[in-house]
Amino acid sequence: MQGQDVFTTVSIGIAFNDRACDRPEDMLRNADTAMYRAKTLGRGRHELFDTAMHTRALDLLQLETDLRRAVTAIDGFHREFQLWYQPIVDLESGEVNGFEALVRWRHPERGMVSPAEFIPIAEDTGLIVPLGQWILQEAWHQIQVWRQQFIDHPPLSISVNLSPRQFSQELVAQVRGLLNASKLLDDGVEINLKLEITESALMENLDAATALLRELKTLGVQLLIDDFGTGYSSLSYLHRFPIDTMKIDQSFVSRIGSDNDSEEIVRAIVTLAHNLGMNVIAEGVETLDQVIQLRLLGAEYGQGYFFSKPLHNQGAEGLLAIEPHWIKETIWLS
Ligand code: C2E
Ligand code: MG
Ligand code: MG
Repeated sequence: MQGQDVFTTVSIGIAFNDRACDRPEDMLRNADTAMYRAKTLGRGRHELFDTAMHTRALDLLQLETDLRRAVTAIDGFHREFQLWYQPIVDLESGEVNGFEALVRWRHPERGMVSPAEFIPIAEDTGLIVPLGQWILQEAWHQIQVWRQQFIDHPPLSISVNLSPRQFSQELVAQVRGLLNASKLLDDGVEINLKLEITESALMENLDAATALLRELKTLGVQLLIDDFGTGYSSLSYLHRFPIDTMKIDQSFVSRIGSDNDSEEIVRAIVTLAHNLGMNVIAEGVETLDQVIQLRLLGAEYGQGYFFSKPLHNQGAEGLLAIEPHWIKETIWLS
């Protein structure tokens, strides 16, 4: 790379010769484990090996093996994955506007494993591609069922989280296939499929991501930026992406009311989104006070434990059946 500045960092793993290490390859493996730990903790640093690291590495390896097995059996009868659904609420009317699909892994021995734990492994191993395909298909199928079941309800939308590894022509083809199968492309019916992408995923692969997002947009899909405010997105890139909605991260929303700065950050994000022609979903809404403030700040939608935790499909169905109107019940009556 002539004429280019190259910056390098060094991550070092250190292992001592102890009794548990009687073979040279064990010592190398331990140093390697410590080096990977140093990389995980931010690179350009050193870490000393300890036995907890070895246990953690083995544990991760076991989880990876189990995940591989579970993903392979995804179309089978004993499926270990489930989708749960969390309502997204219109802050003006207090009605359910749609749901975010959140994957759950019911591990045969460990019980429920959080997506925060297994999604990163699925991303590292590429298992996110088949898993993500199943999630998209399952979520889309479920929302079609509910739209037929709750025919008087305004058309419900479904949001599906996407990992950067899923950005490919295969994804575009799958989305096109799903929409075609539901005969939505020709009929001009509102599509209401939403895809959530984090800022860092967008920034990782700027040009390829922009091209793919544009293709998805032409299919009628809506695009959301997830966890907005936590990544390191350059604001100057924001208008390049055909984004419809910003989801304000829960770390700002949870501090509304107790911390003036967070309220100002939320206000700034709402203004920025509106100026760019986007609407806003506030994530992690837990209190009535937050709902009131968010309405005053102009956020269109809210999602969080105040309204409902993520629910399995029967729970979500039960919720739709009672036609909740949170705002009427809480704000106008309080
Ligand atoms: P996310 O997409 O930002 O999802 C919101 C997370 O916040 C969910 O955690 C949800 O249960 C939690 N949450 C919602 N309301 C509240 C609240 O009021 N208070 C608090 N403290 N938390 C709330 P969950 O389901 O554990 O998912 C964590 C993350 O895992 C998701 O963050 C998303 O990044 C990832 N994830 C979940 N499902 C999928 C999936 O199907 N595909 C992919 N690629 N990633 C997924
Ligand atoms: Mg999300
Ligand atoms: Mg989020």
